[in-house]
Amino acid sequence: MEIMYIVIPCYNEEEMLPITAKALIQKMDTLIAEQRISPLSKVMFVDDGSKDKTWELIERFHRSCDLFTGVKLSRNKGHQNALLAGLMTAKDYADIIVSMDADLQDDINAIDGFLEKRAEGCEIVYGVRSSRETDTGFKRWTAQTYYKTLEKMGVEITYNHADYRLMSRRAVEALEDFREVNLFLRGIVPMIGFKSDIVTYERAARQAGESKYPLKKMISFAVEGITSLSIKPIRFITGLGITIFFVSLIMLLYFLIIHALGRTVHGWTTTVVSVWALGGLQLLAIGVIGEYIGKIYLETKSRPKFIIDINLEDDEKE
Ligand code: UDP
Ligand code: MG
Repeated sequence: MEIMYIVIPCYNEEEMLPITAKALIQKMDTLIAEQRISPLSKVMFVDDGSKDKTWELIERFHRSCDLFTGVKLSRNKGHQNALLAGLMTAKDYADIIVSMDADLQDDINAIDGFLEKRAEGCEIVYGVRSSRETDTGFKRWTAQTYYKTLEKMGVEITYNHADYRLMSRRAVEALEDFREVNLFLRGIVPMIGFKSDIVTYERAARQAGESKYPLKKMISFAVEGITSLSIKPIRFITGLGITIFFVSLIMLLYFLIIHALGRTVHGWTTTVVSVWALGGLQLLAIGVIGEYIGKIYLETKSRPKFIIDINLEDDEKE
């Protein structure tokens, strides 16, 4: 039987954690009793520098029940980095790792399906939401447009898959070799390859606390997804530049003819308009290029993506 770790990034989740822990105890006990996972399996909470009682709760769970363990990051590093920290820590103890959110929006019963696929030899199993009914119309629409845009940009991504998935230790070890600092896990995991499959589930609404992904964070996450995985925006700008250059050649010809006919004052509007249009375009181009230069800058610095403050697994061994 394989040891399964469930990795859960938590940021200010004191309201949600007791509910989550209770649901997971039940789930894990059942899976262990049914001998589908090893009794050494655990739930690993990653405290992403929470400002509330999240870490105190994790420590309390750990003391009261063998099933729970935790890792505390030195400060808030965001969902993706917290998740990565959890994966990289858990891989030293587990054979398979399931990642999920603290808010139980992802149906924990889908884990049964994950394990079945694992038994069939999959190294990665993606949890895919069957519908987005619990989302607002706005979120549904933006998400759909976003996935389509990513696809057009040539990014390989599983539609309606968030970060609810099972990975084998082998897959996580492979993920470790991706040295990038700008992290968009759901875009990188498919690059790992290996035998993989999907399991569909219904996504519920958050049960307690509020979303830790306000619109601002969501937009920056979306931009991150595109700029860290695709260079098509640069190609698009280049294409636009070429087109505009040809248009300006035709315009030049047009102005020359007008000039030859002696009607020079005519055309002032065109000039002003093109000055503005080109000015705007150049700014846009500089902006996009700047975005990539920013990435190169961060990449060359190769800062650590996370620093673990406490790992409860360590003091257990002593
Ligand atoms: N999260 C985190 N660090 C952050 C923001 C969020 O670890 O800086 C965690 C959060 O605790 C939750 C998961 O990421 O377990 C997903 O966040 P949330 O449910 O708020 O996002 P939503 O489902 O609204 O997109
Ligand atoms: Mg959520």
